[in-house]
Amino acid sequence: MNDRTDIKSLTPEQLANYVTQMGLPAFRARQLFQWIHEKAAESFDEMSNLPAQLRSALQESCDLVVLRIADVKISAIDGTRKYLFALPDGNVIESVLMKYKYGNSVCISSQVGCRMGCRFCASTLDGLERNLRPSEMLDQIYRIQRHLGERISHVVVMGSGEPMDNYDNLVAFIRLLTHEQGLNLSQRNITVSTCGIVPGILCLAEEGLPVTLALSLHAPSDQVRRTLMPIAFRYPLSEVLDACQTYYEKTGRRLTFEYSLVKGVNDNLEEAVQLARLLRGRHGHVNLIPVNPIKERDYVQSDPKAIEAFKNYLEKQGIHVTIRREMGRDIAGACGQLRKSYIQQGKEE
Ligand code: SAH
Repeated sequence: MNDRTDIKSLTPEQLANYVTQMGLPAFRARQLFQWIHEKAAESFDEMSNLPAQLRSALQESCDLVVLRIADVKISAIDGTRKYLFALPDGNVIESVLMKYKYGNSVCISSQVGCRMGCRFCASTLDGLERNLRPSEMLDQIYRIQRHLGERISHVVVMGSGEPMDNYDNLVAFIRLLTHEQGLNLSQRNITVSTCGIVPGILCLAEEGLPVTLALSLHAPSDQVRRTLMPIAFRYPLSEVLDACQTYYEKTGRRLTFEYSLVKGVNDNLEEAVQLARLLRGRHGHVNLIPVNPIKERDYVQSDPKAIEAFKNYLEKQGIHVTIRREMGRDIAGACGQLRKSYIQQGKEE
């Protein structure tokens, strides 16, 4: 972007250094951190207990990244909200708010676009535009919390992008989000979903962050997985599942295996048999997701009967399995589709 300081991405220690370099006392850094992260301030002007001179000095040298809500769709059925955010450089990303009995959960994007190329996914159709900074990941949550007027208690990194492909920013984001002087989210209420980048999984296992790991499995064999996910050529299932086992051992966190059911591709009983064999003794549960069809591909959802049969077989084998409840049916659209239609619209105008 430019050489201005991205103040929302700084750790408390970096912020303290920054403030000291400006010749100011350390308590100013704590005040600033609170305004930025706990109160989700939208401008330096809002920071009323900081001297006006300091506010204008910060204005001169720093960017306070604040995303603009370009569009929001609210479900009349269950209150799910889809937000389209404009980034300072003009890119757009989407985030989703879901209201559950246990709290408010936000699904955030970790990149603008994605380069993983999963066949059924809309986010990757135009490739990767750029990584999101920690500030840009955080502000999806901060803006939604302020717009909603309720606390966000859970975060899933399951929107557009591959979090392990933006690893350093991901970890910085998690540390800021869970900082006790910030929004102070519980690390246990954060889920990171990956298509299976082995070095990323192994690194995250060593960070001392007990976040939940979700693996996008989608097939019980490398052969089928490769038809859906190009990353499966790079990291075979045996390596990915070993890395997941390591993750479990290091963090004590049970895993989630995501399995999007695509009619005639990965949903027959033979695949359920293979899947049960593959996951036996692994510490996690399977989350079945009826694939959300995108118009650019001809994948279709499995029949409800096939989904039931798949689920029943796994259960009989002692595997804990859930079917993802569809949220916001009336505002639905697969990951990345709202953004895609917005960009398309712009091109046509
Ligand atoms: N890159 C990460 C996180 C983003 S995708 C990952 O691959 O896990 C979040 C989840 O939605 C992944 O399991 C992904 O495979 C799945 N997904 C993407 N597009 C989908 C679609 N059209 N229908 C069903 N699931 C989809």
